[in-house]
Amino acid sequence: MRKYEGSAVFNGIAIGRISLYKKNDSTVKRRHVADILEEKARFENAVKKAVEQLNNLYEKALTEVGESSAGIFEAHVLMAEDEDYRESVFNIIENQSVNAEYAVACTADNYVAMFESMDDNYMKARAMDVKDVSNRIIAILKGKTERYQSEGDELIVVAEDLAPSETVQMDKSKVVAFVTRYGSSNSHTAILARTMNIPALIKVEYNEDIDGKEAIVDGYTGTLIIEPDEETKTILLSKRHKEEDRRKLLQELKGLPNVTKDGRKVEIYANIGAVSDTVSALENDAGGIGLFRSEFLYLGENTFPTEEQQFNAYKSVAEAMGGRKVIIRTLDIGADKQAHYFELAKEENPAMGLRATRICLTRPDIFKTQLRAILRASLFGNISIMFPMIISVEEVKKIKTIMEEVKAELRADGLPYKDVETGIMIETPASAIISDKLAAEVDFFSIGTNDLTQYTLAIDRQNEALADFYDPHHPAVLRLIEMVVKNGHDHNIWVGICGELAADLDLTKEFVRMGVDELSVAPPHILPLRQLIRNM
Ligand code: PEP
Ligand code: MG
Repeated sequence: MRKYEGSAVFNGIAIGRISLYKKNDSTVKRRHVADILEEKARFENAVKKAVEQLNNLYEKALTEVGESSAGIFEAHVLMAEDEDYRESVFNIIENQSVNAEYAVACTADNYVAMFESMDDNYMKARAMDVKDVSNRIIAILKGKTERYQSEGDELIVVAEDLAPSETVQMDKSKVVAFVTRYGSSNSHTAILARTMNIPALIKVEYNEDIDGKEAIVDGYTGTLIIEPDEETKTILLSKRHKEEDRRKLLQELKGLPNVTKDGRKVEIYANIGAVSDTVSALENDAGGIGLFRSEFLYLGENTFPTEEQQFNAYKSVAEAMGGRKVIIRTLDIGADKQAHYFELAKEENPAMGLRATRICLTRPDIFKTQLRAILRASLFGNISIMFPMIISVEEVKKIKTIMEEVKAELRADGLPYKDVETGIMIETPASAIISDKLAAEVDFFSIGTNDLTQYTLAIDRQNEALADFYDPHHPAVLRLIEMVVKNGHDHNIWVGICGELAADLDLTKEFVRMGVDELSVAPPHILPLRQLIRNM
């Protein structure tokens, strides 16, 4: 038994046989051609055929994995028909009197180098798309068509890298997992794998001939295990059974309302930190997204995510969730969530320092970029915005002024948006105590019990040494929650909880008694919570 570590881009456990994905030979030879016009016509014909193939793939992906994932093939069509791309190929054929295959390969190399040199990770990932489209055109020019070769029923497809067009063409009934040596969690392949709901690993380095060998993909730990021993198989199979039990629970409760026996309804939404988490939210039948921690789009990057990147992320979440509510929390950077390019000064007391909305109000340029992206994405679903770490009515008024400025700017730019529901997080004692005043300013409250506990009890939530003192059941915290619910309802706005306490089954009854309207929890908590509420 050998183990190779990588990173999981979608979890689950799969057992099967390795099928090494061998791509067509894509080496291209440079040939001198006499008839330049004929060479150009060959290229034009190949593009036509590629577009035909891509349109077919689009239709196939549409029925199998849905609109947002199928969109990549539309993007490939645009790339294949791109004027600059065509011009570059033509120039090379003309200036060097060379064959179309060679001209396409050179053009692809130039584009790939250009995309890869960009700072923006999204654009970097596009290098793969140009390569994919170009290889398709080259394969057509060479008279070869891409083929997925497979034998056996439970295949773990292992490749250097997989292009979306390759993954989507595979027979889903046979493929149980994807493993690649390269690739990023941003790539479409990763997104497709998640949508196809099979475990996928990237960055797996192995140093043996693994083709045809029995293997296990552990998408929880990111491990590829070759020729597993019996004990490992038993352990992982039992892990998989637990997963299957959870899914059975899901099947039974899916589609049922979260209503107590005496008819009180509670919305149960999901907390997410990435677009891909919508898969798990939907799998667990979330009524919506109650907290999208948008700062995760900023973390782990080298520079600020652009408006376009953010727009795409928010739009994808909104689309994935259909008409269900999606509450995007604006940037909550600072304290334990640091991104070096913000260049925040070192603070003695970061949890009580410049963080979240305080940063947004001091650096409106950053804030406005995010608000523009969210408002533009609002057209694609049912988006709400909420603001973290609020302590005063003045802050809310300042935010509203900035929102109005952003809307005016969008109108001036001719960019459409919807007027979205706006709410605030109640996670400081100050905001809980003046929640009667704040309720008059917003459409909803969402109580962030993680910070509310930290600030109410004066206990740093990051400090392991204080774990015994950190008591979110403290009556002071519960009284504040009850007070917020009452003040919210007195002003006819809904009140939810999105801190970890929302998933605490020991408190569910208490929250229902208080009249809490919504509980937003990590996706795996949704169904157990639903079960409890329905039995109440
Ligand atoms: C909270 O404070 O309860 C909350 C939901 O926000 P975060 O945990 O992201 O600070
Ligand atoms: Mg918080």
